[in-house]
Amino acid sequence: MINKIEHIGIAVKDLKKSEELFQKLLGEGPYKNEEVYSEGVTTSFFKVGQQKIELLAASNLESPIQKFIEKRNEGVHHIALHVDSIETEVQRLEALGFEFISTTPKKGADNKRIVFLHPKTTNGVLVELCEDI
Ligand code: ZN
Repeated sequence: MINKIEHIGIAVKDLKKSEELFQKLLGEGPYKNEEVYSEGVTTSFFKVGQQKIELLAASNLESPIQKFIEKRNEGVHHIALHVDSIETEVQRLEALGFEFISTTPKKGADNKRIVFLHPKTTNGVLVELCEDI
């Protein structure tokens, strides 16, 4: 079951500068910084009530975030939906015709297992499903 929007991911060029900006905007600093080696990203998490904002900066030139910024500049990168079971949701959504970038869960930031739906089947929006580890 999909039970909430877990976070919104925003691609940024300069994590430090963006952290300052979001700290001013939200009135509170990030509660966590984490490098996700498998994705080539450095992340910074802010709490906004029950939800979070995840800032994502590329940590190398091959990073998907680097490619995203080259193509589309900074901005909203993905929406993450919290699910009880990734496997159950992958099965349900595949049966409905949704496509995934990969159906094998990876370890994401902030103690989550994650998969991404392909934006071509979700109106151009990159959707992440995440499950607590
Ligand atoms: Zn995310």
